[in-house]
Amino acid sequence: MQHPCQRCGACCARFRVAFHWSETTDFDPSGMPVELTEPLDAHRVSMRGTNCRTPRCIGLLGTIGAEVSCGHYLQRPSPCRDLAAAWEHGEPSPQCERARAAYGLAPLTPADWPAVHMER
Ligand code: SF4
Ligand code: SF4
Repeated sequence: MQHPCQRCGACCARFRVAFHWSETTDFDPSGMPVELTEPLDAHRVSMRGTNCRTPRCIGLLGTIGAEVSCGHYLQRPSPCRDLAAAWEHGEPSPQCERARAAYGLAPLTPADWPAVHMER
């Protein structure tokens, strides 16, 4: 079964993705490529494409609500790692639900998660 996030991607095109510059390759060679970010303030950068009224992260590939992937999944920054998909770990996720609603996608429910853990 496909991971529900691979059929969604809404949160990658709904919020500003801001994080400390030390998560980029300017500090950490295994971090997010700095050229995919832009300065936000003295300590933070944001993913290109997300600091605007109609955000879509530069790293997002595919069609929202159909089939998507993160082009830099292993290097994704902390806000992306921290945003839980609703009910993946047995709890609701207001951010996930708001993002999906903005794209007309129904909220995830516990039934979207099989007993066997899925890999993204
Ligand atoms: S966390 Fe939620 S909004 Fe983000 S991709 Fe997964 S299902 Fe979609
Ligand atoms: S870095 Fe990847 S997971 Fe994070 S917002 Fe961009 S596309 Fe989504």
